[in-house]
Amino acid sequence: MEPPPKTDPLLLTPGPLTTSATVKQAMLHDYGSRDKRFIELNRRICNELLALCDAGHSHLCIPLQGSGSFAVEAMIANQVPGEGKLLNLVNGAYGHRISEICSYLGRRVSVLETREDRPVDVAVLDRALAVDEEITHVAVVYCETTSGIANPVADIAQVVETHRRSLLIDAMSAFGALPLSAAEIPFAALAASANKCLESVPGMGFVIAARESFPATEGNAHSASLDLYRQWRSLDESGQWRFTPPVHCLLALDQALLELEEEGGVAGRRRRYEENCRVLVEGMRELGFATLLPDELQAPIIVTFLLPGNDKFSFPDFYQRLNDRGYVIYPGKLTGTDSFRIGCIGHFGADRMRAAVAAVRQVLQEMGVGYSGSE
Ligand SMILES: *Cc1c(COP(=O)(O)O)cnc(C)c1O
Repeated sequence: MEPPPKTDPLLLTPGPLTTSATVKQAMLHDYGSRDKRFIELNRRICNELLALCDAGHSHLCIPLQGSGSFAVEAMIANQVPGEGKLLNLVNGAYGHRISEICSYLGRRVSVLETREDRPVDVAVLDRALAVDEEITHVAVVYCETTSGIANPVADIAQVVETHRRSLLIDAMSAFGALPLSAAEIPFAALAASANKCLESVPGMGFVIAARESFPATEGNAHSASLDLYRQWRSLDESGQWRFTPPVHCLLALDQALLELEEEGGVAGRRRRYEENCRVLVEGMRELGFATLLPDELQAPIIVTFLLPGNDKFSFPDFYQRLNDRGYVIYPGKLTGTDSFRIGCIGHFGADRMRAAVAAVRQVLQEMGVGYSGSE
């Protein structure tokens, strides 16, 4: 058997991602769920998550066990009543997942699809809402992790508000790094998780839902374990999660939120990711790689690169060789275009990104793949 590697690889993936040593160390405790410290931990985390999107009193924060998709599914089940209808704005795989969730839940859904390299079209949304009066809710993915594109949530929210419908945001790969202020962007609910831009460990997500409309969501959920209304009632009344809480995830997230604050909050984190993204894109372009997206559509979260049309380039080989050097990248998720992705998020900065690009250069040389910078 191979000896285990001395250090963990750098995860250039969209979550799980590389976390700080201090976030991992924060988990070295056992709290009982009725422990006063645990109840305070919950309150502190929920208040902090609300503060990150300027939603102090306007919204509620409901944490939930599971990966991010559990939170998205719980949000849709909680917000869209059985007789409701969702208009789903799709430009990637996570948008399609929302439609799939609706079909499991038996919620009516209609889809407005845009190409994966184009943002959601606000004018088309406007017309769709004017025509179909049955639509009660609109769903959008803020940063579509499939391509790395940022959708214009502020403009979408304005249109949805004008038509007096409710907006649901999958903010999974945006929350904590891209701007999202409840004071400026009206939304009924958003879902996100601990293990993306918040740089904590996987195991829990959360939904931030408008306080005013929340009581009316009672009874909407299809599932006992994903019933957000009951989860909130339990937390509100007794400070208790309904089922075994992911205590260690909460301990890690508490520390991760502290580190986010120390970094200068959402703006500070965004600056680091922008720098990671710039170093990555410039370096990869120098090596001859093209990005799927033009720079103005690219969010500083994850970058999609097109596979070079070179016979000597094989993605599995490229992936494995980078892996052997301690860098984990991500396969592409686009329909119809061969691509791969490299994430800019996680506990690392421009120096490690430069080292990752240098590793890509070496791997290309080993594979005998010429690039424009080599001649
Ligand atoms: C990561 C992600 C999710 C949730 O994925 P999980 O694998 O369930 O954590 C949902 N939406 C988007 C946009 C994501 O990036």
